[in-house]
Amino acid sequence: MAITGGCQCGKVRYAMHVERVEKPHVCHCRMCQKATGGVFAALAGCAKASLEWTAGDPAFFASSSLAMRGFCRDCGTPLSFAYTTPEARIYVTIGSLDDPDAAGIEIQYGLESRIRWVEFCEAVPGEITGDSADAQAFFAGMVNNQP
Ligand SMILES: [Zn+2]
Ligand SMILES: [Zn+2]
Repeated sequence: MAITGGCQCGKVRYAMHVERVEKPHVCHCRMCQKATGGVFAALAGCAKASLEWTAGDPAFFASSSLAMRGFCRDCGTPLSFAYTTPEARIYVTIGSLDDPDAAGIEIQYGLESRIRWVEFCEAVPGEITGDSADAQAFFAGMVNNQP
């Protein structure tokens, strides 16, 4: 069994070889808003080694010095997000899953940028970007490639 999904034109397809997605979440940060063109990103993860691109090759944009975002070069659908180091997980966009219902969110990130009228997930626990010393150290040297 695999959890599958793909872009809107169907050229890029993926399979997550896991029983269930890890850490399904929304991120309200400005970078995710820009990257998706939406009012937040909805993402669900698995180990990088568990994700297989089964059709087509996504294009990637380094949205910062720390992260790569995959998308379909033909139709533009945002498909993936992964930190380049040291995170071993890659996330796919929940909207690109064949069964988004299977990825109910468990946490929300980037609360500092949450758009005021986005209120659907009030009951889901959340945190602010860089809210811990570890997170501050991780983001300290990041170069943002989104002008
Ligand atoms: Zn496509
Ligand atoms: Zn984000």
